[in-house]
Parts: sequence; structure tokens; C-alpha cells
Amino acid sequence: MDAKYEQHLNFLKNEDKAVFDAIESEKKRQMNGLELIPSENLVSQGVLEALGSVPTNKYAEGYPGKRYYGGNEYIDVIENLAIDRLKKLFGAEHANVQPNSGSPANMAAYYALMDYGNTFMGLKLTEGGHLTHGHPVNFSGKLYKCVQYGLNKETELLDYDAILKQARDVKPKLILSGYTAYPRAIDFKRFREICDEVGAYCMADIAHIAGLCAAGVHENPVPYFDVVTTTTHKTLRGPRSAVIMCKADLAEKIDKAVFPGLQGGPHEHVIAAKAVAFKEALEPNFKDYARQIVKNASAMAEELMAQGLKLVTNGTDTHLMLVDVFKSKGITGKEAEYALELAGIYCNKNTIPFDTRSPWNPSGIRIGTPVLTTRGMKESEMKEVSSFIIKALDNSKDEAKLAGIKKNVEEFCKQFPFYK
Ligand SMILES: *Cc1c(COP(=O)(O)O)cnc(C)c1O
Repeated sequence: MDAKYEQHLNFLKNEDKAVFDAIESEKKRQMNGLELIPSENLVSQGVLEALGSVPTNKYAEGYPGKRYYGGNEYIDVIENLAIDRLKKLFGAEHANVQPNSGSPANMAAYYALMDYGNTFMGLKLTEGGHLTHGHPVNFSGKLYKCVQYGLNKETELLDYDAILKQARDVKPKLILSGYTAYPRAIDFKRFREICDEVGAYCMADIAHIAGLCAAGVHENPVPYFDVVTTTTHKTLRGPRSAVIMCKADLAEKIDKAVFPGLQGGPHEHVIAAKAVAFKEALEPNFKDYARQIVKNASAMAEELMAQGLKLVTNGTDTHLMLVDVFKSKGITGKEAEYALELAGIYCNKNTIPFDTRSPWNPSGIRIGTPVLTTRGMKESEMKEVSSFIIKALDNSKDEAKLAGIKKNVEEFCKQFPFYK
């Protein structure tokens, strides 16, 4: 198999060797290892090219047709392409493609819909929520009053009846769904009903599952939610960035919150890269890609469980899974992350629901299949990848063995080249 894409750094190679060498080494690391971090992906040639292009030079404060700077004729074309494609992809009434990343997108959405001090509900970080979903160290927990909901202790799943009951007591201005470490399907329709019942704004942050939602592999909340934010660099396989979609009646509020409320000049080269990624996601084969991500995750989950690992909720409906390595292997998430890294396998330590250990050294790791799927791996390869994982966890204190596994991983990865 030939590598699909090439990174063009011909100038840097000669003119700034220090930066060139670091970028090249990072590319080698990405190609020679197994990337299991479920919030990562590999972007296409088109996305890479747009990211390295001249719209980065342009100031374009404002929106298409209403800019505060001259010379935005072609920038408007770029931004309108991104907007139109995104609306089509998710069936959105309105789209703002300017947010620079997931966290600022959430900040802008809250800023649009709430006053400081208002109450909202989001899932606890330790049970799968994101820092921006109301954690006390984050702006979202400081500027707003966040009453967090949790999972059911028996099932480790969302308990919609309990969330409704809590919402009736709390009377939040907004209820947020969509998570960062929840392996199961989310019943967005149920969240809409809960919000309607208590009169709250219905918002989702689909950063992790956006690609699955766009492809119809997971329920897509955009057509009937008030506001949906998402990053564009996770399962959506675009550049590191974000967008906000909303109902037409909230369009003005959302746009004003992003600019001038929060950000200055939009990053139009990244917006160009988003437009490219949205076109790719509109192609019929993106549906196959998203389906394969989930098939691969299921296959990996089955294999890991067959080999004795305990998975939160005993499996996955999505691209990701949480492994309780403490229960399965008697090592902490931090130790597991480190051992896997020495074996050329990349994941992140993560709390499991109702973890008795700390977030800095939790009981679990979080793994997923978007990158492996982008590289062309299928169910049969998930067996081999699972075996590498188990071997590394079983030899977590043996650096020589881990170095040996790393060699085997590297050999295996050569079958799935992506960048030259
Ligand atoms: C990744 C993620 C974010 C944050 O995105 P950044 O681009 O890292 O700021 C926000 N919300 C959720 C649910 C995420 O998974």
C-alpha cells in the first residue's frame, strides 16, 4: 500500500531545520505508532493544504458581506462555502464557522444564551463530561452556576428519569448533553423532551461524535436542538477547530457572541480547511468511514473483553471505550498510559464512572478507533491491535519487553501508511 498524502515542507527543510526536524519526527511518531486517542484523527491532503495557505494573512472581522476590513471578496467565498456545506451536512438552520476551537465555541454559546450567574446542567467531568461543561476550575463553573448530573451507578448509563427529576428541581436556563468520554449512544430526543418540560435551552456539544452524527451512525441532534457546538478535528476529520449550529431565531445571538463578543479576526485559512473537510464528509464514502469506525470499536471491545479487560458499560456504541485497567490488571490509568506509550501505542488516562482514584492517576484509560480507521484498518486488524494492548499492559513494568512490542507495532503500522 502507498501512502495517500504528502506534507510539503520543502522550504522549511532548508531554511529552518530545527522546526522542520521536530515536525518530521512528529509525523514519524504518528505513522509508526498506534494512535488510540479517540479525540484525534488524521486529516486529508486537502485539509493540510488549506491550513498552509494564504488566507492566514487576512483580517476579516465580521461576517460575509459585513466585514470591518476591505479586501474580503474571496474570503467571503471561502466562509460561505464552509457555512453552506456545514448546514447541508447536519441539516442546520444557521451555522457559525468562526469559533477557533471547542472550548471557545462552548464559551460563545453560553455567552449567547445565558447571563453570568445563570444556572445550567451538564455531565460531571469524572463521569464523561468536558471541563467546559461546568467544572469548577473552568470558566463554565465560575461564571455560571452549574448543577451537574451524573450517571446511574448500576448501569453506568445516563439516567433520563433522574435528569428530568433534577431539572425540575434546579430549573436550569440550559441543559447540555454530548460528552467527551461516554461510550454509549445518547438519546437526544429524550433531552429535547426534558428541556421542553422545564423550559430550558436544549444544547448539545457533539465534539466527539460529530462525524458519526453527520453520517447517520449516531442520532443527529442538530435539526431539533436549539444550539449544537462541535469541534471539527475529532471524528469529523477536519482541521483543529470548531463550529456552532443553531435555530434561525438564535442566529443573531450566536453570531454576536462569537464576534464581537468573544473573538477577533476569524482564522480564514482554518475556515477554508473546514470547508474542505465538510465537502469530504458530504461524500457517500464518509458514511462508510463512520460505520467502519463503530464496527472497529465494537470489534476491539469484544476482543479486549474476551482477553479479560473490564470495559465501562461492557462495550461501546460509538468510536470510544473506557477500560478499567485497575480492576483488570491492577495498574493505574497513568501506569497503563505510560506502558502503552513505551510500546508505541497512544491513549489517555481517564477516570471511570464513580472512580475512587484521582483524575491525575485514575483507574482507567480511554481508547478509540477513528485514527486506525482513517488508516484503513478493519475488524481483523482490531484483533491484532488488541493483542498489542494486552501484551503491553501485561508487561507494564518491563521496559525491554515494551521496547520489543514497539518494534512489532512499527512493523505492523507499515502496512497502513498515510503520509509519505
Ligand atoms: C474536545 C472537546 C472539547 C474541546 O475542544 P478543544 O478544541 O480542545 O477546545 C469540548 N467539548 C467536548 C465534549 C470535547 O470532547
